[in-house]
Amino acid sequence: MTSPTLSELHRHLDGSLRSDTLFELANRAGVHVPDSLLFKPGMGLDDALSRFGFILNVLQDAPSLTRIAHEICEDAEQEAIGHLEIRFAPHLHGLSSLADSIDAVIDGLHDHGYLILCLLYGDPPDLLEHLVDLAHHRPRVVGIDIAGGPSPGHRWGLGDYGHGFSKARRLGLGRTVHAGEGRPVAEIKFAIEHLHAQRIGHGVTLLDDPNVVDLVRARGVTIEACPTSNWHTGVINEIAEHPLKTWLELGVEVTLCTDNTLLSDISLPREYSRVSDALSLTQDEVEQLHLNSVRGRFAC
Ligand SMILES: [Zn+2]
Repeated sequence: MTSPTLSELHRHLDGSLRSDTLFELANRAGVHVPDSLLFKPGMGLDDALSRFGFILNVLQDAPSLTRIAHEICEDAEQEAIGHLEIRFAPHLHGLSSLADSIDAVIDGLHDHGYLILCLLYGDPPDLLEHLVDLAHHRPRVVGIDIAGGPSPGHRWGLGDYGHGFSKARRLGLGRTVHAGEGRPVAEIKFAIEHLHAQRIGHGVTLLDDPNVVDLVRARGVTIEACPTSNWHTGVINEIAEHPLKTWLELGVEVTLCTDNTLLSDISLPREYSRVSDALSLTQDEVEQLHLNSVRGRFAC
């Protein structure tokens, strides 16, 4: 099932540390890991996102960031992943500067590991510009992302991030956006047309608009599908409902990703196995997912 050239394009640093490490860091901080920390099927995206708060509380120093980046790379090697793009939001880790957060993670990366910097939905556009500037000067940082989800209370929306994403494109940085994660397909269209997204995280509602399917195919956009995560957040009721097989049949460049190995208790080989079984994927379809994971890389 696994291939030495397999790429993992969508894995969050703060959702993918080792369980033992989390318990050790929590113990050191004098806090108890909640029994209910891991994702459960149908829990809803807001509840899922709230689980990150506890983990972030114990990831507020450079040595911890370096350690978990190193361990995530080591775990990926065990999964036969030959190319790993880890993503994280540098401003959530309490270091004295964003540069310090980023450099702490870079210090832990192995040769096959790269970094994507996340803005969160609702964050100020100035922060995005700052992240783009920091990424530009660091070869191991290969892209930017918008993670989390929109809220009616947010002052800033996707429309406010166009300038920062255009700048990222000018500077040659990869662009991906969490879009259509159970939300309207128009979000996917906007991310591609106005934020120059080359990849879309999740994109589960893509089939709601055939014109957006055409747009995704015409632009060669890679969809980073995370079916187990979508099952947990209630975007789909079961893995068999995921539209990935139809996407493949339509020629959409989709690949499989884990999103959060700790919180979803998943690895990339297990995700391939689970999704192949649930959707009755053919060997050719599995190979196409592998190929798309290579073609969608932000770094060579
Ligand atoms: Zn994600």
